[in-house]
Amino acid sequence: MDVKIFEELRTVLTQQNQTGEFPSWLMDEIMGIIDNAEQYKNKKLLIETLTSQIGNFDLYAGAGCFDTGVSAEAIQSTLRQLNLEKEGGQCELIPCCNFFADKFRHMPKTETYIKKRLCFGDYLSCNRFKIYVDFGKENLPPDLDPTDAEEVKKVIQCLRNKKRSNQL
Ligand code: SF4
Repeated sequence: MDVKIFEELRTVLTQQNQTGEFPSWLMDEIMGIIDNAEQYKNKKLLIETLTSQIGNFDLYAGAGCFDTGVSAEAIQSTLRQLNLEKEGGQCELIPCCNFFADKFRHMPKTETYIKKRLCFGDYLSCNRFKIYVDFGKENLPPDLDPTDAEEVKKVIQCLRNKKRSNQL
């Protein structure tokens, strides 16, 4: 196991805690990950993302025009991804994902490919799942094709703009 990534996580967390601004409820959850590092040993990318986000945490992220700080919500989103990934090997949206249920009717090859590769595999890479994690299920367009990069980009940009203007 690469213990270094967890040591870095602990160091950055301790530094942020000393500022007195880092939310205690996030602190407890992240300490739980560090204390159970073995369970997260294969989640290197997400742990590194988490470390970077904590390092750039800003209590007022999103308030200014040019800020690059990371909000508590963004960190929470990464924690959710870490815990979802730890729990299972298939997407939790399968029972209610419109795309999974309907969109493939006339595309059997695409259906097999996406279901095998994403829905029952690397669902954390699915663009629909990412939007769900970042913006909530209610903001997930029913017909959005997760492999349509252009459309996905437009939807994410639109949701970010809405979030900035506090409509989300
Ligand atoms: S298409 Fe994406 S969001 Fe829908 S069930 Fe599959 S992995 Fe989940």
